[in-house]
Amino acid sequence: MATLKAPEIKFTQLFINNEFVDSASGKTFEVLNPTTGKPIVAVQEADKADVDKAAKAAKNAFEPGSVWRSMNASTRGRYINKLADAMEKNLDYMIALESLDNGKPIPQSQFDIEFSIRVFRYFAGWTDKITGKTLKVDGDYFCYTRHEPVGICGQIIPWNFPCLMLSWKVAPALATGNVIILKPAEQTPLSAIFFASLVKEVGFPPGVVNVLPGFGPTAGMAIVEHPDIRKLAFTGSTEIGKMVAARAIDLNLKRCTLELGGKSPIIVMPDADIDQAIQSCHVGIFLNSGQVCTAGSRLFVHEDIYDIFIDLLVKRANENKVGCPFESHSIDQGPQISKEQLDKILDLIESGKKEGAKLHCGGNQIGTEGYFVEPTIFSEVKPSMRLWREEIFGPVQSVIKFKTRKEVVDLANDTQYGLAASVFTKNIDDYLTLSNQLQAGMVWVNDHHVFDTVAPFGGFKMSGMGRELSEYGLQQYTEVKVVFVKHGSEAK
Ligand code: ADP
Repeated sequence: MATLKAPEIKFTQLFINNEFVDSASGKTFEVLNPTTGKPIVAVQEADKADVDKAAKAAKNAFEPGSVWRSMNASTRGRYINKLADAMEKNLDYMIALESLDNGKPIPQSQFDIEFSIRVFRYFAGWTDKITGKTLKVDGDYFCYTRHEPVGICGQIIPWNFPCLMLSWKVAPALATGNVIILKPAEQTPLSAIFFASLVKEVGFPPGVVNVLPGFGPTAGMAIVEHPDIRKLAFTGSTEIGKMVAARAIDLNLKRCTLELGGKSPIIVMPDADIDQAIQSCHVGIFLNSGQVCTAGSRLFVHEDIYDIFIDLLVKRANENKVGCPFESHSIDQGPQISKEQLDKILDLIESGKKEGAKLHCGGNQIGTEGYFVEPTIFSEVKPSMRLWREEIFGPVQSVIKFKTRKEVVDLANDTQYGLAASVFTKNIDDYLTLSNQLQAGMVWVNDHHVFDTVAPFGGFKMSGMGRELSEYGLQQYTEVKVVFVKHGSEAK
């Protein structure tokens, strides 16, 4: 079991060209502990001048003939594996750092860091397996494709899974030979800054990975707008994602991949295994204090089991142990990330009460220190309500009654989002029909929140563009080049 001791903070600077440096402006910002609302530490604050400096370093690292560009693909794979080894060596420290910075319970941080390590190992294995094709074109040509790295990749990540989101972005970019400027979220920069120290420790060439803690409209926008950055990988809200992609495409047609919001449906059919469904529906919304883009935030329950199902959901939610991650290993739910998120969630809860949804449990902030919210369950949630339409990103479950399969497909798809969906049933016809008809990039049957390095992650509609993880994710980090070589056809 990972330690329950709050860690010492070792690094607080920007990481550019393999050096820890102060920001050009000399400005710093405070990182707050969400369990108390008090500062943990001040870190250097990147802005445009620092993005320019990092882009120069990255450009040098990507020059033809550079150490990075000339490195054997298999050697690149070894470096990525060394990063995974270094993370493993610091596993306990990284788990504690993530829990301190984000507030998530220790077992959840452990899951995140271990998953991040698996992501690096998975993509390390791809480095020497990225192949083009030879093509039978007309005429006397030898024709083949090459999958080349895109170049400098700007990566902007959120605060809900700080290290995991870093791994999903950095690992495939390195595996395909790109160079990186990564901006962690301003709320949670600590694991990314520590990760940067490992990049240096294992010997990556300078400029290949640069990490710039800072704010969205300043450091983030400077990445979005930089002319030498060729690709933008963004995870965050749909509102900001749409805006940054439009800007990035407008300026220099950056390749954009976006992982955005969700309002994912869970459908429980009358024949479902009730115990299994209750546990999955519970974790489906309350995991990470509800701060998960694939949260099952609209729960559709068949009318035959609706009343009993709600009773069991409430019983399960009331068993949730809410508290500071360092209190005990059995804490299930930590605080929300910030005062801003707390206020937004409380406002949405109020809207539910006003708009006529039925409150079964929770509905309030817990205490006044930190940003804790009671596990909350509403039923009788209607399509017109904000609870139905808006991404809450908090521990708020909305339950909806349905009668027929046709009705529930229409209701489930009645959203601008299309990230994930799940179905609980033992009936083959139900699960095949529903999983085919649901508009979502990921469908789970008899489970929720299942992720794997080898399976693509991403959404339909306004939940994003492109995929992460798996071979599909890898493809988003290469450009395809076709080469035609003219040759003679006679045997001389
Ligand atoms: P959330 O609402 O979950 O905080 P955001 O979309 O605001 O999500 O933030 C996700 C990431 O996008 C963070 O790293 C944040 O700093 C960054 N970001 C926010 N606004 C901008 C912006 N205008 N330009 C570039 N990045 C931004």
